[in-house]
Amino acid sequence: MREIYFDNSATTALSEAAKNAMRQAMEVFGNPSSLHARGNAAKELLEDARRRVGVTLGVRHAAPEELVFTSCGTEADQLAIFGTAYAKERRRGGVIVTTDSEHPAVENAMRRLEGQGFTVVRIPTRGGVLNFAEFEKALAKKPFLVSMMAVNNETGARYDVGRAFALAKEQNPDTVTHTDAVQAYLKGELNARRWMVDLVSVSAHKIHGPKGVGALLISPEARKRRDLIPVMPGGGQESGMRSGTENIVGIAGFAAAAEEEFSRLASNVEKMQTLSAKVEQLLGSLPVRVNKPAGARAPHIVSVTLPGVRSETMLHALSARGIYLSNGSACSSHSAKPSGSLLAFGLSPAEAETTVRVSFSAENTEEEVEIFAAALSEELNRLVRVKNFRA
Ligand code: PLP
Repeated sequence: MREIYFDNSATTALSEAAKNAMRQAMEVFGNPSSLHARGNAAKELLEDARRRVGVTLGVRHAAPEELVFTSCGTEADQLAIFGTAYAKERRRGGVIVTTDSEHPAVENAMRRLEGQGFTVVRIPTRGGVLNFAEFEKALAKKPFLVSMMAVNNETGARYDVGRAFALAKEQNPDTVTHTDAVQAYLKGELNARRWMVDLVSVSAHKIHGPKGVGALLISPEARKRRDLIPVMPGGGQESGMRSGTENIVGIAGFAAAAEEEFSRLASNVEKMQTLSAKVEQLLGSLPVRVNKPAGARAPHIVSVTLPGVRSETMLHALSARGIYLSNGSACSSHSAKPSGSLLAFGLSPAEAETTVRVSFSAENTEEEVEIFAAALSEELNRLVRVKNFRA
């Protein structure tokens, strides 16, 4: 059976470049902290990977304290949020500003901090757009941290974090700014300097790298101000910011994948935009609704609400035909609750439960989109007939 993989926001296939780099790195077994030739070889590989990943984030010659490798995007988010909260809480009040549609990696960290006495203000993102009137009101509360995702993982909405962070810094240059850029990374421009962002979280497995590796970019200003303390104390690896012997194989795969995606960024974005436009055009003749963000959007994510067919039912039906999508984010698909991001976008709980996410990589083709649209149409007819018969 031919397989069509449209779940690239959940994870992507490993690239050949990543596999090759990982195979080679498997032979480099030394500990980068060891002071002998084996250790040096591992250290060289590590620092070479850091430099290469740094370039893809707009940083030349990333120093070890500037780009910290973590075990995933989630861990990079925890380091940014808890690291800042625990470094700053005693110096200045306890207000954090975020959005109402963050990934659980951020939202659940915020909930824990609320339980510990911090105040969290969530800015509405109805229609996929940050509400700046509410944001300006929230800035009056003098937050020490503003953490906002760059691209929503369920709707593909691109939030104007550059404008938000500039406003936050204008009001107080010491406010720490963080963006969860896991879905934005290598899907368009990501310029940490221009966005005035201190901390940027990314993940390798969303860009054809391996699972189990992520990174947090830390601005020189944030380092100087000592905005962050480690959440994983230990042997002091990664400039003391993230202890634990580095995952050299994963990091080597991350660098190879990132470098390749970076070199093809413009054409990849164009390809994914073409696929998104095509799917929207083809779905235009079906009784479904595409949840188009009112503002800017990422090229690779299309959210589609089905007419009364539960997303899980449709996912199983399409999966049986070799077509793979997801309902909202893969991370929250285990939860019985409707997706917070979709509710924040403006969907009702019933609509959220009948919404699927199509997410592309540049490896997908227009022919696959045509096959998908035809299969969706057939399954909708069949499932709606079954539903009406049962009713
Ligand atoms: N943040 C966003 C926006 C995501 O989409 C994801 C993964 O889906 C994560 C964080 C978590 O990344 P990881 O799977 O590397 O922990």
